[in-house]
Amino acid sequence: MEPTLFSKIIDREIPADIVYEDDEVLAFNDIDPKAPTHILIIPKKAIATLNDIEEGDLALIGRLQYTAAKLAKELGFAEEGYRVVMNCNEAGGQSVYHIHMHLLGGRRMQWPPG
Ligand code: 5GP
Repeated sequence: MEPTLFSKIIDREIPADIVYEDDEVLAFNDIDPKAPTHILIIPKKAIATLNDIEEGDLALIGRLQYTAAKLAKELGFAEEGYRVVMNCNEAGGQSVYHIHMHLLGGRRMQWPPG
């Protein structure tokens, strides 16, 4: 797999405003925020799309969601509510082919999304 933009952020080849990191996960502010808080939570393991998740990745995927909730609590909008989104492939709106969870908070969300 070609290194993606997000692999380069993990490797510190491209700067990002990092808000959380552990051995398996990195979280940083989206460069083009769609809400007052818009954080991207990514696995350090390069997985191109949701379709490429394997059984051995299940704990890692849970860690993405756990990290989203942890950040929402720390940032103070967990109780009022927030949204997590993962886009898959072109029609799903995916533009970077390294899976990522969007954490959006700080405003009322609309449903359905566009
Ligand atoms: P997708 O469209 O693949 O679901 O989400 C990709 C996200 O990456 C978009 O929300 C976009 O704004 C964000 N993004 C694109 N380039 C950069 C960048 O260089 N730095 C950061 N922090 N975010 C980026």
